[in-house]
Amino acid sequence: MLVLKDIHKVYGKDSKRVEALKGISLEIGQGEIFGVIGFSGAGKSTLIRCVNLLERPTSGEVFIDGVNLQHLTASQLRKERKKIGMIFQQFNLLNAKTVFKNVAMPLIIDGRPKEEIEKRVNALLSFVGLSDKAKQYPDQLSGGQKQRVGIARALATDPHILLCDEATSALDPDTTQSILALLKKVRDELGITILMITHEMNVIRDICDKVAVIDGGVIVEQGSVLDVFSEP
Ligand code: ADP
Ligand code: ADP
Repeated sequence: MLVLKDIHKVYGKDSKRVEALKGISLEIGQGEIFGVIGFSGAGKSTLIRCVNLLERPTSGEVFIDGVNLQHLTASQLRKERKKIGMIFQQFNLLNAKTVFKNVAMPLIIDGRPKEEIEKRVNALLSFVGLSDKAKQYPDQLSGGQKQRVGIARALATDPHILLCDEATSALDPDTTQSILALLKKVRDELGITILMITHEMNVIRDICDKVAVIDGGVIVEQGSVLDVFSEP
């Protein structure tokens, strides 16, 4: 369960002051697929960076499973961050490392034993349908396969929440469909809550239970996808 309470984010000061988020409040239930849609500059990336703790909100609070992230020590914060997995538009894979190593990376950083890593990475590659690609390098994969690696890596440390930052925007329509199907499987089989930001309406329609429309740093509409997108 992810709760945002009145999040504000200000960049710069004086004449350069930009209020990217102007009081965003959201409640995303366990196992929900929640979409945030908006045009470029609306504040989507800023919002996702406030959730994954890459950025501190100027004011407001973020709760993950009831834990308020604003008042934690550095070590508590590291622990909470493991509850969050993230995938990206440009996949953000390490091109000099094999698929296996890319997926293993969060587990290596977490200091897991070698045997556990081996087992876990093989299970993850099987889950995303890439068991035969373990020894390949990202350059040898299609865009859709790269995003599958990204998803396996994001799931490595058993997150409660998966954040998707324009995760299908670099993919063609058929590949987009296959990645959305995999994300549904992540929710259905693993019970993981998914927050997706996108500018693609079809992605929201195809996969999300609920949606918030963001514009100028505020939520202008939110509700079930059927309610928000049905004709008046
Ligand atoms: P979106 O992801 O919806 O395109 P962003 O969150 O990237 O929107 O941007 C929202 C607003 O905040 C824009 O006006 C953008 O220029 C501004 N902004 C984003 N990041 C920064 C930053 N690091 N410094 C200054 N302004 C920023
Ligand atoms: P996106 O909208 O997909 O996030 P951008 O190209 O808007 O991509 O932003 C890329 C990076 O530049 C982000 O890290 C964002 O914080 C930063 N950024 C965006 N707008 C500004 C801005 N006006 N001033 C400084 N940094 C910015």
